[in-house]
Amino acid sequence: MKLKIAIIGAGISGLTLANDLLSAHDIKVFEKSRGPGGRLASKRVATDDSKESVDMGAQYFTCRGSAFATFLDQHIRPNKAVSAWHCNLKQEISGGQWRSFEAETRYVGYPRMSALTRQLAMDIDILTNSRITAISGTPGKWWLTDENNALHGYFDCVLITTPAEQLMDLLQASKLENLVDYFDVAMHKMQPCWAIALNFDTSIGSAWTGMEPCHSAIAWMANDSSKPGRQHMGEWWTIHSTPQWAQQHVDAPADWVVEQLSQYFRDLTLCELPVQRHLVHRWRYARPQCNSPQTRIWHPQFKIGIAGDWLSGGRVEGAFDSARRLMNAIISV
Ligand code: FAD
Repeated sequence: MKLKIAIIGAGISGLTLANDLLSAHDIKVFEKSRGPGGRLASKRVATDDSKESVDMGAQYFTCRGSAFATFLDQHIRPNKAVSAWHCNLKQEISGGQWRSFEAETRYVGYPRMSALTRQLAMDIDILTNSRITAISGTPGKWWLTDENNALHGYFDCVLITTPAEQLMDLLQASKLENLVDYFDVAMHKMQPCWAIALNFDTSIGSAWTGMEPCHSAIAWMANDSSKPGRQHMGEWWTIHSTPQWAQQHVDAPADWVVEQLSQYFRDLTLCELPVQRHLVHRWRYARPQCNSPQTRIWHPQFKIGIAGDWLSGGRVEGAFDSARRLMNAIISV
């Protein structure tokens, strides 16, 4: 039976569901931001004539399962929106001792990370700038209210793919929190991250394209210009804070954050080049702090489903797996 399905969130989980269900059902995706992508985000550098953008969220992804490989082959590879990143990564084990990461192919969106979700969004009916604030109605006949109080519906089925905290806000506002009454909010709390990007007019001379130092403030530093297809002037480096540092400074002014993280970056890389341009972004809900025992949640009697990376390891491929498992649960009833 052809169902009218609403999907809340246009990240990789929402767009996986949308593409999987599109041939058999009417799909409408609601996304609170200006465009699709969620945490697979690239930020444009604000100059008139430049095509520069920098990956501020997910830095790369792996492809360990055959289902994800097949999905990429079907939806992404024919349009060349994904490419392997020939990277050189190292991790600090303890004070000054580093080891290179295990050799595994890392993929990135081409020519920017957000190209991946742009491609997946191509054939999907997505309403952007549309934050859903409540679900009302009865099972099988659901209405969605957005932040401007516009009503959308009705829908036979609602699939929610937001991060855990945003899910709880939505379910509480909808008086549907009993759908996750076993849900441990503390366990599923998403951790924040401050992301900055620094531009230098020449290479900083690092032999490594990505580094995970043992540092109280910095979790990750990567040469974004080393990724394939980037049209950068000079060299852009992305720097992610540790969750603990972000939590401590979550409401700090962005300029102060740039100053602090830049200084730590200089201390760690010994880079003395002047910064030409910079970008900054605060992720309030960046990564889950623990693994969830479930991989997806499906209530056949309500026709409400939940998927997302936080249910499946907090990574791009985990988000895909969670969405695919939810899709399998839906079609098996
Ligand atoms: P999201 O991408 O968060 O999508 C959810 C969508 O729902 C968002 O677009 C949001 O705007 C929308 N939304 C929320 N609430 C509402 C609402 N009420 N109404 C409408 N829309 C709503 N993963 C890796 O594999 N490798 C990495 O290197 C990596 N690095 C990362 C670094 C950072 C800084 C961050 C933040 C994440 C990183 N990740 C990484 C994790 C990866 O980005 C996520 O696992 C994946 O993108 C999550 O996809 P998702 O669809 O589950 O959620």
